[in-house]
Amino acid sequence: MNPMGPTLPELDASRCTGCGECVAICPMACLEALGRIVWLPRPADCVSCGACVEVCGPAALTWQAAPAA
Ligand code: SF4
Ligand code: SF4
Repeated sequence: MNPMGPTLPELDASRCTGCGECVAICPMACLEALGRIVWLPRPADCVSCGACVEVCGPAALTWQAAPAA
């Protein structure tokens, strides 16, 4: 769980290796990969569980503040 509260994962593309582990582990299927580029096409489905941030070896995923609702 994200200790900072309900926020969304943010990708640093310069760190991403395109391994796809974050896409595979997301329980809400809200991450997708376009080639080597990972993105969040369904941010409303993200439950801020932290699985993608934790699984990412090169720390390409970090937390960002959620946009105001
Ligand atoms: S787990 Fe990290 S390195 Fe792998 S595809 Fe996702 S963001 Fe990129
Ligand atoms: S925080 Fe959880 S629900 Fe949100 S994109 Fe990552 S794995 Fe999916």
